[in-house]
Amino acid sequence: MTEALRLDGIRAGRLGPEDLAKNFADLHPALTSHEATIAADRCYFCHDAPCVTACPTDIDIPLFIRQIATGTEEAAAKTIFDQNILGGMCARVCPTETLCEQVCVREVAEGKPVEIGRLQRFATDAMMADGEHPFTRAPDTGKSVAVVGAGPAGLAAAHRLALHGHSVTMFDARPKAGGLNEYGIAAYKTPHDYAQAEVDWLLKIGGITVETGKALGDGLTLSALRSDFDAVFLGIGLGGVGALGLDGEDMTGTENAVDFIATLRQTDDLTTLPVGRHVVVIGGGMTAVDAAVQSKLLGAETVTIAYRRNQAKMPASRYEQDLAATHGVRLMFGVVPVALRGDAQLREVELGYVDTDTKPTGETLILRADQLLRAIGQKLETMEGLTLDGGKIAVDASGKTSLADVWAGGDCASGGEDLTVTAVAEGRDAAMDIHASLTQSAP
Ligand SMILES: Cc1cc2nc3c(=O)[nH]c(=O)nc-3n(C[C@H](O)[C@H](O)[C@H](O)COP(=O)(O)OP(=O)(O)OC[C@H]3O[C@@H](n4cnc5c(N)ncnc54)[C@H](O)[C@@H]3O)c2cc1C
Ligand code: SF4
Repeated sequence: MTEALRLDGIRAGRLGPEDLAKNFADLHPALTSHEATIAADRCYFCHDAPCVTACPTDIDIPLFIRQIATGTEEAAAKTIFDQNILGGMCARVCPTETLCEQVCVREVAEGKPVEIGRLQRFATDAMMADGEHPFTRAPDTGKSVAVVGAGPAGLAAAHRLALHGHSVTMFDARPKAGGLNEYGIAAYKTPHDYAQAEVDWLLKIGGITVETGKALGDGLTLSALRSDFDAVFLGIGLGGVGALGLDGEDMTGTENAVDFIATLRQTDDLTTLPVGRHVVVIGGGMTAVDAAVQSKLLGAETVTIAYRRNQAKMPASRYEQDLAATHGVRLMFGVVPVALRGDAQLREVELGYVDTDTKPTGETLILRADQLLRAIGQKLETMEGLTLDGGKIAVDASGKTSLADVWAGGDCASGGEDLTVTAVAEGRDAAMDIHASLTQSAP
């Protein structure tokens, strides 16, 4: 055990560079050409394939797998990108165990699905490695669209609009485009700066200008965008994070899990990134699992996820839960934080047990904690002038908001699951509706 590993408090360098490089290596390494052929040969190429229905972007999965099997991976990549321009990222981050691979007939029959995600990565990597962009922009329509938010929803919308010849200006509050692909997804799912490489590749379509460091609500107003552009698409995600409502939340050591992960994703040298010796993560979704696993990979000695409901209700999939457990993260169910203790620095967290209705049972336990990461869900930051539904921007099936020339999609919009692939589907579909509206033709 290294000296730093043994010290309490929040410290950098609990592990050395070699251990960190090993820990943060690709979670699912790329398939070789030979492995891809073998994996593709397992597909039954089902007619009415259930995997296609389960994919939110409706990729023709049997077709692209057949194209890989016949050695035409560039054609396979085109099949994927036709439906999902962020097919490379989705191949890395989709919870395939609850989407396409869950319903694969080989999963149902044998408990071992065709590895759709890894095959998708194989094909998309092949085309992107060549630097080739498979689409050509239509002649300029003279119409302009503002896309606010350069995450998966905004990027998918921008690409589809540019493809149809519209001029797109993207505005994003952050210094880099990519949204949570760049600032949120676990580092081991998308190493080697893949998010930026994908944005650069996507922009090769042309016709898209990206203005970073420009936030709606901070110098940029919706009414100005509506008067300057023919249409507006909002893909601003969920920037706000809820508080626990406990005394001591301002102590050193308490932090939002998304901020912790964003710092991790932007750090060039992981040996400089501080982490607690004892970490408690509050929440039960993907963010909680990612924060917990990455804390462990940075060298935290104990990491506990405290979730208020039972295991079956945990939003993180069973695969994600197992990933946490295999990394030595302790999962606790039916508990909520009731007190945070320390001086200026957090020292311990008291958890209270709750019943199935999340009512306190009166039993408590105390965990040592130098660091507490809140992963209790994100919420929309204020959005004036638009009708909301359940705290998100209300949209219809095409992404139309309550304002005639404004569309929205991704996490900030009502309906759908908060996943990368869903954001891509919603951005793409809203773009098609905007295109129809701007050109008065059917989508
Ligand atoms: C920690 C974490 C891990 C995740 N892991 C996975 C995973 O493994 N797999 C998966 O499928 N999904 C995962 N998700 C969910 C997924 O990342 C999101 O569903 C997806 O990124 C939503 O895309 P989006 O474009 O709607 O929003 P975002 O990706 O959040 O992008 C929104 C963009 O809008 C910008 N913005 C915000 N407000 C403004 C403003 N006022 N003005 C201008 N720009 C603004 C932001 O800077 C950002 O770039 C994860 C989420 C988190 C938080
Ligand atoms: S985009 Fe995601 S859900 Fe769709 S086929 Fe690819 S890995 Fe599966």
